[in-house]
Amino acid sequence: MSRYWSSLVDRLTPYVPGEQPKLARLIKLNTNENPYPPSPRVAAAIAEELAGGGALLRLYPDPNADRLKEAVAARFADAGIGPRQVFVGNGSDEVLAHVFMALLKHDRPLLFPDITYSFYPVYCVLHDIAHVAVPLAEDFSIRVEDYARPNGGIIFPNPNAPTGCLLPLAAIEALLAGHPQSVVVVDEAYVDFGGQSAVALIARHPNLLVVQTLSKSRSLAGLRVGYAIGDAELIEALERVKNSFNSYPLDRLAIAGGVAALGDEEHFETTRQSIMRSREALRAALLALRFIVLPSVANFLFARHPAHDAGELAAALRERGIIVRHFRAPRIDQHLRISVGTDEQCGQLVDALEAIVGGSATR
Ligand SMILES: *Cc1c(COP(=O)(O)O)cnc(C)c1O
Repeated sequence: MSRYWSSLVDRLTPYVPGEQPKLARLIKLNTNENPYPPSPRVAAAIAEELAGGGALLRLYPDPNADRLKEAVAARFADAGIGPRQVFVGNGSDEVLAHVFMALLKHDRPLLFPDITYSFYPVYCVLHDIAHVAVPLAEDFSIRVEDYARPNGGIIFPNPNAPTGCLLPLAAIEALLAGHPQSVVVVDEAYVDFGGQSAVALIARHPNLLVVQTLSKSRSLAGLRVGYAIGDAELIEALERVKNSFNSYPLDRLAIAGGVAALGDEEHFETTRQSIMRSREALRAALLALRFIVLPSVANFLFARHPAHDAGELAAALRERGIIVRHFRAPRIDQHLRISVGTDEQCGQLVDALEAIVGGSATR
């Protein structure tokens, strides 16, 4: 607290991201980054944007990032999506910040699961939004019946984070139909690892907003590109907030790289299939070590061991040069969230866990 701070700053408890260690040798399975490099077309497109000694950097980027919106719309053309139904930002975290302010701040409270992406409550405090955390079921699934109460909006990731559990599209459709007066935001950061996108429901539900990112399934966490897709009226609200805040959000390199990444379907398919295969192999190995592992359709697993404290496991792994995520939060403080790495990284994790918990992962 400082006498120079606003009362808002005094109230803020900022989001704490997973550690980005400066030590290069660590096996980093703590922030759900993709273990594979992005499409080679990304670096080529960025190099092209930098041609001539970077002369183009003199000029402001396209404030509307039209090329990128067109590339996103083209990817969802089957669902009838056009560029006017697309909003883009510096990573989906920035998109979400605008969504909370533009669409989720109302007199009635915003609803989200009690165990979910921990940025949501942070945005609520930042934007002074009334909110209620709705408990997940015992098995960590979302029960849509529990959302049948007065609300000013609903938001959840699908698959949920940090659990990896998927809510089927039919349940999302029931939620949309049951709350036609509220915006329902589906944060699909991990949907490409085995889920089904709700974008297909947008044509029938003007209250649906889907948020996606290139950080996870396109290996571009370092470039910062995210987007929202929904009815043009919802997108207009986001544009109004964005243009009252920062009218040039995406830089030239992010626009060029994002367009290139969205254009390489083959690279996308190969890498996401590898991650899904590695995930299932890692899950089997953890089960053999007596971990209790939630079924996941994300690029991470959520697991606990009946005989070992999660905090101690995380510390023991760290001593062996492997970092995973441990949340000191109610209901989940005995779980670890483990990002799926390459098969080699997963193998090193399993070897370390064999040494720590005892036993063998080979059946
Ligand atoms: C990673 C993540 C995001 C944010 O990703 P960006 O890198 O900001 O695009 C958003 N929502 C969830 C649930 C995430 O896990």
